Amino acid sequence: MGRTIIKNGFVITSTEQFKADVLIEEGTIVSLSESFLEKQDDLIIDATDKYVFPGGIDAHVHLDIPGTVDGFESGTKAAALGGITSIINYADPVKEKSFIETLQEWKKKAKPSYIDYGIHSIINRCDDETLKEIPLLAKEGVTSIKLFMAYKDTVMVNDLELYKLMKKAGESGVVTNIHAENGDVIDELIKEKVEAGYTAPKFHADTRPASLEAEATNRALKIANVAKAPVYIVHVTCEEALNEVKRALEDGINAFAETCPHYLVLDRSYLELPNFEGAKYVCSPPLREKSDQNALWEGLYTGIISTIGSDHASIPFEGGKTRGRNDFSKIPNGCPGIESSFSLLYHYGVQGNRITLQQFVQKTSTNPAKIFGLYPKKGEIALGSDADIVIFDPQKSSTISAETQAQNTDYNIYEGTKIEGSISHVLSKGKIIVENNIFKGEKGHGEYLHRKTFNKIDSKFELVKN
Ligand code: MN
Ligand code: MN
Repeated sequence: MGRTIIKNGFVITSTEQFKADVLIEEGTIVSLSESFLEKQDDLIIDATDKYVFPGGIDAHVHLDIPGTVDGFESGTKAAALGGITSIINYADPVKEKSFIETLQEWKKKAKPSYIDYGIHSIINRCDDETLKEIPLLAKEGVTSIKLFMAYKDTVMVNDLELYKLMKKAGESGVVTNIHAENGDVIDELIKEKVEAGYTAPKFHADTRPASLEAEATNRALKIANVAKAPVYIVHVTCEEALNEVKRALEDGINAFAETCPHYLVLDRSYLELPNFEGAKYVCSPPLREKSDQNALWEGLYTGIISTIGSDHASIPFEGGKTRGRNDFSKIPNGCPGIESSFSLLYHYGVQGNRITLQQFVQKTSTNPAKIFGLYPKKGEIALGSDADIVIFDPQKSSTISAETQAQNTDYNIYEGTKIEGSISHVLSKGKIIVENNIFKGEKGHGEYLHRKTFNKIDSKFELVKN
């Protein structure tokens, strides 16, 4: 591979912004300068009047799970077109298999990926074998596990298991990701509603109230503190839960919070759309109130929320969501969104004057890289970092639609949303995979990300100071 130069762009890092050319050799950023002496066979990309961002890292992805339509091929293509250059995908446990065996299966599934991928292991049991596997997973580059405080029949763990697994994770340099909702009480609320004949999608939200997310968030944070383990609360959706995270951070607990674009942009009124359309918006935790959206934006600005993840789960409407036509509790939970996560945060966040360009880079790239052991190889435009780069045209606009998306679902929850700004180029390890909005990726170009173990990140409230 020869040299590539991104010329005349406006480079946006997690701490500053400046006009510079970016010189790439062998997939790595080797120099940033006002201009370079060009050689004849240099590949030149003109980025005049465009932003040059580090590629997005989506640390909350569910590709290739039963009932969904995006595997690693379509899923990472959609991701790339949406400005994501690395994902960390959740590996569902496989019955009768060890977690190391399960990891090997998931690595095989991920082989066709167009972009780099890491794996988080979902752990749903706490026997001695499992506890022994956590440091082994870390050796394999899986430096984060995921525990569920809901979904009793499949993945939920109880408080004792939570404590033991977190403690072992902490000792092994592994971050524990938590789905925080009180599963026991929620299951009872669902039963009550269904038995009383309340079956419409909106009752999904009623049975998973904000208070039960906040309660579980608080419990997870307190247990993590006792277990001396770093904890990452996935998909924080509401002000009540956010306040628990804020308090934990003030107490010096090593905690991080993530939110998702749908909680920032959509609210629970979408569940009431006619013709069962509301089912498209069924995810857990559920969409909340407008006031919660404001609290989440504030949390992103003040640094209580460190990252954005898409929680991409590509459940189709026909044959998927429609299974719950007569009973909301049978609607599969989850929304597709990997393709629009980056642009939505730019549009509503940066264009909407809620976060700065630096914060945009922090939430979409630098912070997930730091928390999940990928920094500084990923997560920044800096010398020696992988040339995972998004060239973004703030003058152009784009419109989200199921018609034009690469995601395989038969709908898009942001249908018709106009985005100020448009992704023109995406580079993965120096290779152009999106050029003038056209996909140029090569199947299998993505590689497994063997992640580093967690080291205490020196920050209270913000991983990168503004
Ligand atoms: Mn979840
Ligand atoms: Mn999820």
